[in-house]
Amino acid sequence: MKKFLCYIILFVLLCFAIPILFTNKQEKQEVAKIVKNNESQNEKEEHINYDYKQYNTIKLLHAKTMQVEEIPLDEYLYGVVSSEMPASFEIEALKAQAIVARTYTIYKIQNNNEKHEGADICDDSNCCQAWISKEDRFARWEEVSAQSNWNKIVDAVDSTKGKIITYEGKPINSFFHSNSGGKTETTINVWGGDNYPYLQTVSTSGEQAYTQYQSEVTLTKQTFIDKIKEKHADFEIDFSSSNCIQILEYTDGDRVKKIKIGNMEFSGVEVRSMLGLKSANFIVTIEGDNIKFSVKGYGHGVGMSQTGADSMAKQGSNYEEIIKHFYTGVEIADL
Ligand SMILES: [Zn+2]
Repeated sequence: MKKFLCYIILFVLLCFAIPILFTNKQEKQEVAKIVKNNESQNEKEEHINYDYKQYNTIKLLHAKTMQVEEIPLDEYLYGVVSSEMPASFEIEALKAQAIVARTYTIYKIQNNNEKHEGADICDDSNCCQAWISKEDRFARWEEVSAQSNWNKIVDAVDSTKGKIITYEGKPINSFFHSNSGGKTETTINVWGGDNYPYLQTVSTSGEQAYTQYQSEVTLTKQTFIDKIKEKHADFEIDFSSSNCIQILEYTDGDRVKKIKIGNMEFSGVEVRSMLGLKSANFIVTIEGDNIKFSVKGYGHGVGMSQTGADSMAKQGSNYEEIIKHFYTGVEIADL
């Protein structure tokens, strides 16, 4: 009888103990799985963001010949910086341009892989970013200064080797342009869609010293009408009406957001494109038989202004200060 009682007690104990053992094991397995997942996630992110060797060479599509060339990343960057920025600019501005170009390249490789089949990036400035071969670059410089110009470009790229701009640990979409006209623009006002937190409107001093700051476009009334009608066949305007052209709204970056011309409303960006203006920061006046546009700045205005970078460098800023001025809340990280 005593033995029988012992069996019952043992049986009851087992009934409780076995599920507890299993539950613990299962929980431990779950925890192990989560830890492992996190680890592989981290490994993956580090692999994407911080392996310079992965980007040792890039596949560059030559837009004119449609040929793909595989070249070392830094060598590619010499061609980009020397094509995108005058070698006469301050060395700190050239370094900022080198880091911006490197970041832009890595961002393109990671995010726009399907854009060019079999290539990472192209050499068309209207599509990706401009690039020029060393031979072509030397042919366009004056012989006396060609070698020292080239050395300066190489120094800008080499002395910032592996450095990229990150926001929350990821490479940024580092847009840049020629001259902001005093204030940069947000992406939503240029291309619509979402704004990037690191691409805010910022003011820069000293850009008026550059030829890209101010320009004028004068069109006859008839050419003006023809150019708009190319895109909008039902466009009409009565120049005898005093408010036939009226700017309705400006962006925070001082560009035209909305303008009424005749029977239609346009964005400043569309007017810029239709009439070939250097930027969407313009005023318009009617002078006799002509329409005159006085334009400030050159380019879309998003991200770093190249002349603004040079102007800041002239005033004593280094590449890090320049980059952190134009891109809000970013860090400069080593690949
Ligand atoms: Zn492209």
